[in-house]
Amino acid sequence: MRCPHCSNPVPVQHAFCERCGFSADALGAYLGHDWVHLERLTDVTHCLRLEEKRHLEVSLDDFERQFPQAFIAFYFGALPNTLNPLELGMWLLNHGAFASHQITKRNEFGAVCVIDPVTGTQGVALGYGLEALVRISDLETILTKMVPSLRNSQWGSACQQLISELSTTLRRCGKPTKRQVEAPAPSPQGGNATDYGFSLLRAGHRAVERLLKRRKEP
Ligand SMILES: [Zn+2]
Repeated sequence: MRCPHCSNPVPVQHAFCERCGFSADALGAYLGHDWVHLERLTDVTHCLRLEEKRHLEVSLDDFERQFPQAFIAFYFGALPNTLNPLELGMWLLNHGAFASHQITKRNEFGAVCVIDPVTGTQGVALGYGLEALVRISDLETILTKMVPSLRNSQWGSACQQLISELSTTLRRCGKPTKRQVEAPAPSPQGGNATDYGFSLLRAGHRAVERLLKRRKEP
């Protein structure tokens, strides 16, 4: 992983960054160690319009349909000058219970975008699983593409850009998997159209069936 404070590469097994001394524990000292519940869109600074939120929810659903293991969350808020967006994003990945559709999704396949609209800073923290797939240079390119929208206070567009660009990046490294389908075939010893998944047009057929059956009976 990269140190969220100084971007120095830090081996996963190391507890702190050797260059700046940053550690996840130090972050917990002023954000706490409790788990917090978070929606996929948290807008403390009220940057997003209702319509933008609705569009983003649809785009986030689409993203999760394409990449069922992964999710993206956005946090808009003013941060103290002792905390940068990437640090908060990392803390959220370690302490956030995100309200994605599948509650079982693990944060290691999460991407948390933290935007501070007051200072004009932003960062995207990736869980370990996504970090192994998305190169730092790709993430930096995505963030650079978001900057013009963020500078023009087009918060919704910036979020849409992240969703779309991250989808493109993941599609490049994803492997399509073949779905195994198991279903019993209808019995070869007769049956009716409903065994094949069809619904009958007229309910009256049952009366005819009963009549035919009665005729066959001795
Ligand atoms: Zn560091």
